[in-house]
Amino acid sequence: MNRQQKRKRDRQIKNSKKQKTDLEQKMGLFDLMPDNCFICHKDFNKKDKKMVTTWNVVVREKEQSVKIYCPTCWNNAIELLKQHGVPIKHEGQD
Ligand SMILES: [Zn+2]
Repeated sequence: MNRQQKRKRDRQIKNSKKQKTDLEQKMGLFDLMPDNCFICHKDFNKKDKKMVTTWNVVVREKEQSVKIYCPTCWNNAIELLKQHGVPIKHEGQD
């Protein structure tokens, strides 16, 4: 790639960033998404629609951190919280 091509590409990248909406910026956090379960490290496939809809994603925008939990671990965690009488609160909602 020569310099001119590189400059053109940089400009395209810059422009595409500028055009991003709020939602897309939030979706940008998807880039930070780990590719396995936070607890059991089971592989997570971002391109698998079923996985995307069944796995739980906890986003902390302020900390730019994203954690994912497979349905099994998520349910276990909720059960555990229930057993300990801890009120269930979504991590990202404060
Ligand atoms: Zn898991």
